[in-house]
Amino acid sequence: MIIIIIQYKWRPPRGLKENKVFNLQPKLLISLLLTLCFGVLSVTAHSADDAVKASTIPATDTAQDLVIYSARNEQLIKPLFDAYQAETGVRIKFVTGKEGPLMERLKAEGAKTRADLLITVDAGNLWQAAQNGLLAKVDAKVLNDNIPEHLRDPGGQWYGLSVRARTIVYNPTKVKPGELSTYEALGDAKWKGRLCLRSSKKVYNQSLVAMLIARHGEAQTEQLVKSWVANLATDVFSDDENLLDAMAAGQCDVGIVNSYYFGREKRKHPDAPLAIFWPNQNDHGVHVNISGAGVTKYAKQRDAAVKFLEWLSSEKAQNLFADANLEFPVNPRVKPDALVASWGEFKHDTINVSEAGRLQAKAVMLMDRAGYK
Ligand code: FE
Repeated sequence: MIIIIIQYKWRPPRGLKENKVFNLQPKLLISLLLTLCFGVLSVTAHSADDAVKASTIPATDTAQDLVIYSARNEQLIKPLFDAYQAETGVRIKFVTGKEGPLMERLKAEGAKTRADLLITVDAGNLWQAAQNGLLAKVDAKVLNDNIPEHLRDPGGQWYGLSVRARTIVYNPTKVKPGELSTYEALGDAKWKGRLCLRSSKKVYNQSLVAMLIARHGEAQTEQLVKSWVANLATDVFSDDENLLDAMAAGQCDVGIVNSYYFGREKRKHPDAPLAIFWPNQNDHGVHVNISGAGVTKYAKQRDAAVKFLEWLSSEKAQNLFADANLEFPVNPRVKPDALVASWGEFKHDTINVSEAGRLQAKAVMLMDRAGYK
């Protein structure tokens, strides 16, 4: 037997984390023992692009395995993969990373990709993936029955699997819930110097503003965003967690975050002076978004990928999927986690979430014009 030993310096690919099933370990110096008798490809990896090649045909891969690219963290998705494997015997291999690099990778791999399914968050991202020709149309009755129409792509290229509300939070030592009403009213003069917002660079806010454009048109939404900017208590935040910490510390009185960040903060600090509010209950409802998935255009295991998607939307998997991140199940027949349920029921905006993608570019330009950093 001939043994080839290749040593290379591992550098973390931008935003990309390889799962160990792809045999790329994050160590400064790795020895790869590749035996010719297994016919394994050997490469020297120094960059993200090279890492893509390195794991395209993993040593232990077999044609029957389902391969998933996931922008959701391993801790959120691995329990689902394990449960599915235990139930069906289907083996799942996965790569986790940020959505941008994962989509670039899918694009670069083209028809050679081994990915069968892309899992990511926010309809804005899923819409981009479909727009870039990375996903395939699926028309499955089970998915259409389990997932409300406004939480899936009208073209069938992606499906919501959990729901998050991007809603108002407030400091109850400074604000009474009766003072709150709508997203739009956060632009009122009474909130001057009291509002906290996350950066407009985050897709969550791009989607929120895109949905406001869908409701009010560009001119009115631009005025609204300007009125928010005029009320800011401080610079925009890099993430929702920092925003909630700042609010709990008294830096601002109201803000907009995704519901699961509020849940995490309350789990960590139950006594933090933070409360959740459901706006726009007398008109269009709360802006909701999704985490979801789509079968890739060049899936080798298309039928298996559709079956797994169907399973993810089923009553038995929905709690595993949603509760892990304190989200709402997308399947209306499934009850949320007790903490999430304690926030009460509320009216969702039922405009199709694909609008978040369709109007994303307009939203980004509008936020720039409005001075929202
Ligand atoms: Fe998030």
